[in-house]
Amino acid sequence: MSHPDAIQKIVILGGGTAGWMTAATLAHLLDANRVSVTLIESEQIGTVGVGEATIPPILLFNQMLGIDEKAFIRETKATFKLGIEFVNWGGLGEAYIHPFGDFATDIETLPMHHHWLRAKAAGYDRNLFDFSLMVQACRRGRFVHPVTNNPRSVLAGVHYAYQFDASLYAAYLRSYAEQRGVKRVEGRVASVDQNSETGFVESLKLEDGQSVDGEFFIDCSGFRGILIEQTLNCGYQDWSHWLPVDRAVAVPCEKAGPALPYTRSTAHGAGWQWRIPLQHRTGNGHVYCSEFISDDEAHATLLEGLDGKPVAEPNFLRFKTGHRRKFFDKNVLALGLSAGFMEPLESTSIHLIQTGIARLMALFPDKRFTQVDTDAYNQRTLFEYERVRDFLILHYVATNRDDTPFWRHCQSLPVPDTLQQKIDQYRSAGRIFRESNELFTESSWLAVMHGQGIEADAWNPIADRFDGSAMIERLDGMADIIARATEAMPEHEAYIQEMIA
Ligand SMILES: Cc1cc2nc3c(=O)[nH]c(=O)nc-3n(C[C@H](O)[C@H](O)[C@H](O)COP(=O)(O)OP(=O)(O)OC[C@H]3O[C@@H](n4cnc5c(N)ncnc54)[C@H](O)[C@@H]3O)c2cc1C
Repeated sequence: MSHPDAIQKIVILGGGTAGWMTAATLAHLLDANRVSVTLIESEQIGTVGVGEATIPPILLFNQMLGIDEKAFIRETKATFKLGIEFVNWGGLGEAYIHPFGDFATDIETLPMHHHWLRAKAAGYDRNLFDFSLMVQACRRGRFVHPVTNNPRSVLAGVHYAYQFDASLYAAYLRSYAEQRGVKRVEGRVASVDQNSETGFVESLKLEDGQSVDGEFFIDCSGFRGILIEQTLNCGYQDWSHWLPVDRAVAVPCEKAGPALPYTRSTAHGAGWQWRIPLQHRTGNGHVYCSEFISDDEAHATLLEGLDGKPVAEPNFLRFKTGHRRKFFDKNVLALGLSAGFMEPLESTSIHLIQTGIARLMALFPDKRFTQVDTDAYNQRTLFEYERVRDFLILHYVATNRDDTPFWRHCQSLPVPDTLQQKIDQYRSAGRIFRESNELFTESSWLAVMHGQGIEADAWNPIADRFDGSAMIERLDGMADIIARATEAMPEHEAYIQEMIA
């Protein structure tokens, strides 16, 4: 028997990464004979045109759609990503890599860094990052897929994501979705019809006179938020007092040398610059705070930091960090930039689209649009946003930089209680807890806190029950295995060339 209130007509407004990720998922999971999916986009308006670095859960998204990795790597000009290098963040001249995956393995049920902290207090001088397989692979420019047939192999612990051309990814998903029945309508939405009593959206009117009606509308219209904001006036929670950067200028450049298996983020005087290596070019952008630097200066700084000739005109973007007060309201759900935005420092935006889609699937509405489910979607999304926000703020507050007015301003930034508690707990005894299903793992928090100079005063006293010199031998053994394993990995660029040949 069919659900008595099942939705039969879904309309997606917007054909950027968010729109096509949503369309591809709906095309894959819904029965096209029962539910029609229409996507409206306007070539005249275009997409935001950036968003190239991702995090490991994207593998699950592609696998869910049944996408062949080789074809995907070829079509989207993708490279592999093992982490992000942060240069000049903790202090000028300093650098560390925030890797995917864990630091070695737990030792006798304790995270290994507690043993390392204890050994360090006794004079052990091996760097914590020697215990990360991904950091060591990045430093050597190596990559290999995880070993799947031997869980005991150190290479079973490879964690990776992709760096890709975002517009090629959207095009790839568009073709996937259209082949499975999604109807694409070209045109610009000029007005929105709402039910006069309930305020529910009923149809979208395009400039050319077409009308597209639906029962459920997914707003992927980008920063404009045509349905969630311009129509339903959900309001925006501004987080710029916590994360003050508000502009970006992006420009791709020619490649210089083999593509590295990681993204780089270099802190500047009033923001930071990304460098994302793809197969055919390098993506770059300078994210900055307009209160402390002009657009022209920001552009000039970006150009100085390129490692090849620019291959396109600069793309200037403005944003306000924060999120809609409601992500889901009445029969409209916002995904992507229309839902909210946090700077791309940890490559989280595409991931937030993915988890929004996953949450939508878990709470898929029927025509009743029950408030309890709408509220559940909003609460869970807010929790996820707040924890990502805390992790981003950490990068600005865990620093000894005070060399420019921007960095001095960062020293006075308020710290959310949830973040302060994480920092205090780590300082006190090296302890880190991942709350509920927050995105970043204990290892991620450890990498950034340690990488940016937060020192733990002590360790979990349980570590004391092990013999000190035996533990140092064990730690050395782990780091040596990681060093040998990464030396034996193939060179990243050559690996990709062989894969797509
Ligand atoms: C500077 C910067 C760097 C970023 N870097 C990363 C990164 O490295 N990693 C990452 O994960 N994310 C990154 N992001 C975020 C990422 O780019 C976005 O999350 C992603 O592209 C999704 O965008 P979108 O589809 O929501 O919006 P858009 O790409 O803006 O698409 C909006 C769509 O709506 C359509 N539209 C709008 N109005 C109308 C209308 N009236 N009628 C018809 N159609 C309409 C447009 O035509 C377009 O198709 C970055 C973002 C910025 C700003």
